[in-house]
Amino acid sequence: MSRQYYIAGNWKMNKVKGEAVELAKALVEQLKDGKNKYMIAPSFTNLDAVAQVVKGSNILLGAQNMSTEESGAHTGEVSVLMLKDLGVQTVILGHSERRHIYKEDDAMINKKVKLALAHGLEVVLCIGELLEEREAGKAEQVCEEQTRKGLAGVSAADMAKVIIAYEPVWAIGTGKTATPEDAQAIHQFTRGVLADMYGKDVAEQTIIQYGGSMKAENAAALLAQPDVDGGLIGGASLKAETFIPICKTY
Ligand code: PEP
Repeated sequence: MSRQYYIAGNWKMNKVKGEAVELAKALVEQLKDGKNKYMIAPSFTNLDAVAQVVKGSNILLGAQNMSTEESGAHTGEVSVLMLKDLGVQTVILGHSERRHIYKEDDAMINKKVKLALAHGLEVVLCIGELLEEREAGKAEQVCEEQTRKGLAGVSAADMAKVIIAYEPVWAIGTGKTATPEDAQAIHQFTRGVLADMYGKDVAEQTIIQYGGSMKAENAAALLAQPDVDGGLIGGASLKAETFIPICKTY
């Protein structure tokens, strides 16, 4: 497999500046010999401080969201230009908390995806079904729709900067993890959707992360699946002791 493992930490709405800097420093130190691709996504207010810490390291700086617009009358929003100005390299879009708590739909997420790519940012596009959708046998359908709509208008060339994160909503922050087989099934299915959209080569090169209560104890089995290329980690990314072992699983 030519795909590289990509382990990312989504810190969500956690940590004040001093705590964020302290964790980022620990990660820079402990991952400097790491073989994989790494990213951390602090809150907007901590991006500038964490940027100074990760600069020149092997850890990418990510944002957890961004506006659909570049500038203007959008109170409370943060634009791609502001993120780039701080040294942000990648942005998580379509996270289930954005979709389900803040009601972001596929059209809005797609607009953000295209804007981020137009400005040269890498995009981590999150997809994933609710528990009731899984129980109704609709997991594949939901993931296909979110993938197709989220990537509408994205070129094959731009796919080099797109990562898909499969995050079953019922597994996020709940302690319930998809079995390695369940994760593999959706990852393989999603890669098939990408192959249909962009051809086999692009599909084979696209990193598909798993997210949903990933921790040191289950990371090895999940990452051993042929189509699981990394992890997007929430809770376990908040401490070096719990994040580093996942980063160094393989
Ligand atoms: C996430 O929100 O991206 C996530 C996977 O969270 P957790 O690891 O806490 O389930």
